[in-house]
Amino acid sequence: MNGATGDRAVAEAAAVLGGAHEVTLLAHIDPDADALGSALALGIALHRRGARVQVAFASPERVPESLAPLDALGLLVPPAEVTTAPAVLVSCDAAEPRRLGRLARLLDTAACTVMLDHHATNPGFGDIQVLDPGAEATVVLAHRVLVEMGAPVDADVARCLYAGLVTDTRGFRTAGPAAYRLAAELVEAGADPAVLTRTLMDSHPFTWFEGLGGALARAVLEPSGLLHTTIPLADVRRYRPEEIDSVVEVLRTAVEAEVVASIMQVDERRWRVSLRSAGAVDVAAVATALGGGGHAMAAGFTREGTEQDVLAAIRAAMPHYGERSEPNGGSLHDVRHHP
Ligand code: AMP
Ligand code: MN
Ligand code: MN
Repeated sequence: MNGATGDRAVAEAAAVLGGAHEVTLLAHIDPDADALGSALALGIALHRRGARVQVAFASPERVPESLAPLDALGLLVPPAEVTTAPAVLVSCDAAEPRRLGRLARLLDTAACTVMLDHHATNPGFGDIQVLDPGAEATVVLAHRVLVEMGAPVDADVARCLYAGLVTDTRGFRTAGPAAYRLAAELVEAGADPAVLTRTLMDSHPFTWFEGLGGALARAVLEPSGLLHTTIPLADVRRYRPEEIDSVVEVLRTAVEAEVVASIMQVDERRWRVSLRSAGAVDVAAVATALGGGGHAMAAGFTREGTEQDVLAAIRAAMPHYGERSEPNGGSLHDVRHHP
């Protein structure tokens, strides 16, 4: 989003939301702090202006435990209770309609859809598109809309915005100056960084160490620079998404890795994959080729098949893979124990 187009979209979004009596806000499936924080920040502000507000996501059934405190006003409703034809629908942090799961059908029934997102792979959807791949998080765009609306950023709103900002920038590692300024504003408004980072990023039950240990022991570093591990269905069911999703962040600390893949078994033959890049490889392109999407440095996709099918698909979609692999046509060596 640049210049007039972006500013116009923000102004249009603010005009529609500011005048709305009934708003349904959606986060993407498997919601994270950016998706839910954006939806709840806008939802809380709109509720305080007197609008009837629903916030929802299609799956899983329950809100992740670490995100539950963001819903200070109890605006979250189960997907079955969402109005079938909302006056105004807001899609938050979803790179494409499919990321809304079965609630994507509301895009066809809503009188007006506002889409807020920052994914490079977003093709554009909705009547008003506040789409800025340069924004570190969707909450940055939600904040722009709130400012344009003249809505006060109180402590409850600030917490939601801060939650998305600190997680999508991985603790401000990838934040630009404007994001730091926004963070300062949010802390002044009442967001407590120590409490939020502890809850959102640094809290795991002790029992998780066994699961993490297994995931790390199974990790394989291939000659191409692809580092991957698998998390079996039993572990995916045993631990919270907070634990399962954190594995990729440990993997990415391996200095030898160019691309890391956390391959999570979500059903017998269904795998959700988180990809991270050290910089040279655009994993958004890799994920898009495999039916997903995301950002250049962090992306994901879900795929059917065996674990080996998924791995083969990742290898095939990675650029220059062949140049660094063994000459025997693809059999790969585990170089974990190499110096
Ligand atoms: P994750 O690995 O789940 O943390 O996702 C990394 C980034 O890729 C996030 O910005 C996600 O929103 C995005 N992403 C993950 N899976 C998909 C998908 N299937 N389609 C589009 N974007 C995705
Ligand atoms: Mn997200
Ligand atoms: Mn995001």
